[in-house]
Amino acid sequence: MTSGPMKSATEIGGVSPVDLHELPVVKTTPLADIKGVVERARAAQPAWEALGFEGRAALMKRACRLLLERREQFGALIRDEAGKQPAHAQMHEAIGPLEYVSGWIKVARPHLKPKRLPINPVAMPGKSAHTELIARGVVGIIAPWNYPLGVYFKPSLPALLSGNAVVLKPSEYSPRTGALFAQLLSEVLPRDVVQVAQGGRDVGAELIRAGIDALSFTGSPVGGRAVLKACAEQMIPCSVELGGKDAAIVLADCDFERTVLGVLNWGIHNSGQDCGSIERVYVVEEIADRFVEALGRAAARIKVPSKPGEAEGADIGPLSNPMQLGIVEEHVADALAKGAKVVAGGKKPGIGCWYEATILDRCTHQMRVVNEETFGPVLAVVRVQDVDEAIRLANDSRYGLNASLWTRDLERGEALARRLQAGTVFINNHALTGAMPFAPWTGVKDTGYGVANSEHSLHTFTRPRTIFVDRGHAPDPWWLSADALLGELAERLAKAQLGQLAAALKVPSIMRARKKKLLELVR
Ligand code: NAD
Repeated sequence: MTSGPMKSATEIGGVSPVDLHELPVVKTTPLADIKGVVERARAAQPAWEALGFEGRAALMKRACRLLLERREQFGALIRDEAGKQPAHAQMHEAIGPLEYVSGWIKVARPHLKPKRLPINPVAMPGKSAHTELIARGVVGIIAPWNYPLGVYFKPSLPALLSGNAVVLKPSEYSPRTGALFAQLLSEVLPRDVVQVAQGGRDVGAELIRAGIDALSFTGSPVGGRAVLKACAEQMIPCSVELGGKDAAIVLADCDFERTVLGVLNWGIHNSGQDCGSIERVYVVEEIADRFVEALGRAAARIKVPSKPGEAEGADIGPLSNPMQLGIVEEHVADALAKGAKVVAGGKKPGIGCWYEATILDRCTHQMRVVNEETFGPVLAVVRVQDVDEAIRLANDSRYGLNASLWTRDLERGEALARRLQAGTVFINNHALTGAMPFAPWTGVKDTGYGVANSEHSLHTFTRPRTIFVDRGHAPDPWWLSADALLGELAERLAKAQLGQLAAALKVPSIMRARKKKLLELVR
């Protein structure tokens, strides 16, 4: 219970990755109180749902406007807890919620309207039905730390918009951003609709047992497997969005300079702490020397600080916590021991949790930097003979979130994209759909089968409810007695399906006879 940022069972501590100063302590939610937290959310949920879609949408927009207005406060917290450079904290997180919720309103509106079912009025006279997606009730949200605001708003906003109350369990590495997010939403939304449970895994595990109706989990495959089992015990749906080890395939006909910059960007964006970072680069031999040299040259120019005064001018932030820095160092050491060559970076410059933008050449699938999630600013280059080898190796991974192909031949690129095992395949870009409400964000294998964004994610937040109305006065001809008439009716219906239309002609008279016989039972 004292590993990572947890000081004790009752307190979360942690250090800023910028300069390792101690962060203010946050109290955990006592395990015994978590049921009560869920019950408060449950009591508030019906009135929230009863506001209707447009009522909720208007309030959600007001709440997200407030989040946007407080972007500087978020930026400072994100800097403290995750170490992001201020411009990155704004660009990639703090300015996001209002645009995101506005997009989600457009995505959700048509899908949350009741839909009439196509019941055949001739075969089923007097009958009609419609189905609508209704809120599940209280949705638990368990999230990681790599985008302290983004990973909270991405599941919470659509869950709320769909009419649920939410209980957010922020990461123990970024509890303060989670608390501010919930507090500002609560300033606009009805009381108790948004709740927070602070703490580590034990609090997450208790939340699942505390009566929630669905769970959205973002995190590691280890955590994902554990929560899937726990949700199965409770018989509640669980969406898991887990790790990644995205591959980029660089072909000889790529737009060279743009590809070097694009691959480097998506390798070191957020210091590589994106589930959708490029971590593996498969380059065809034909251009490998030139490509690796250019990639190394550009990476070596990415500024990281070597003394405290340089921190603000750095091009990338540090790793978000000492735990993550340790993993990155282990992976690089393992790769070097197994024959990889450092082209750029490869070290921590010595302050906070910074790590240099790193290019490793001549990597193989025996290295951890190629087959495990590194989650750092490290690109492992694997040289390949041709595109077939690249695709085979790209698919040889336990993960499958995104992949990208870098080529000028867009038609060929699309054909190759269909051979890659990933949720999204980009041609000449990477991972930029992560916060697009209309684009499904999902994967295969250990990335988990959860879907974030788009109508496909509504399954986590809603369930279909159908109302079926029968305006008929006569009993249905197939009710009750298993008599010879019913047998004949079944046989004629079967023949009609097989196209023997003469058999169908007698169906109405058999139905009438059956109805008459049924009515005799009550007369
Ligand atoms: P993690 O699995 O250790 O923790 C994630 C959250 O789950 C935390 O809040 C943690 O307290 C909680 N948790 C962990 N185990 C739990 C359990 N058994 N029961 C209940 N709660 C539990 O992951 P992390 O290190 O915080 O996050 C990094 C991971 O998240 C990376 O693998 C990254 O790729 C992934 N990630 C995925 C996406 C995506 O959309 N696919 C987005 C962001 C991050």
